[in-house]
Amino acid sequence: MTASTHSYCDDRIRLTVGDLTEQAVDVIVNAANSSLLGGGGVDGAIHRAGGPAILEACRALRQSEWPDGLPTGQVAITTGGKLPAPYVIHTVGPIYGQHDGNEAVLLAACYRNAIELAAERGLKRIAFPAISTGVYGYPPESAARVVSRTLSELLASGVAVDEIRLVFFDAQQMASFVTHQQFPR
Ligand code: ADP
Repeated sequence: MTASTHSYCDDRIRLTVGDLTEQAVDVIVNAANSSLLGGGGVDGAIHRAGGPAILEACRALRQSEWPDGLPTGQVAITTGGKLPAPYVIHTVGPIYGQHDGNEAVLLAACYRNAIELAAERGLKRIAFPAISTGVYGYPPESAARVVSRTLSELLASGVAVDEIRLVFFDAQQMASFVTHQQFPR
């Protein structure tokens, strides 16, 4: 089974195994923390690969729109610096167990707000990491259900994006997503 066999919703949603920072799409999504000032995991990888321009743009966001940091579920866009993708949309996933049962709503908001912002900006191809499933502890099986339902609803509503790419760090993570996704057949 290869990565390319996994696509859903008329091929507008594609799954792949790889490094998010290497994706040549219009915009990649960062699983940031609310400080927007960098962290570990995929956030650290994005800042390392994209160079200092991303952090500079994030600092500017903290001095303007988001002085107290980016709230969970919200999004903000910056340059992609030296990344193949020209833009990064930063979002803050829920920390599992810390949102009084609203984790699924907040995780869905990350994906929905990122895609709606991309569509607004005319960015047609967007790549996501598995938000919150690392350090933030969201069980990947339930994330797969939430993400697949959210994305199929968005596409059904006619959102103007061509490709939503879900990037998994390893084959096992992608296989788990495939098992637990609930895209319409
Ligand atoms: P969070 O804090 O939202 O949980 P993490 O960065 O800890 O974010 O992890 C989110 C997911 O991203 C995890 O499944 C992790 O394995 C994956 N990940 C980490 N680095 C990369 C990368 N360079 N490309 C793609 N996925 C990555």
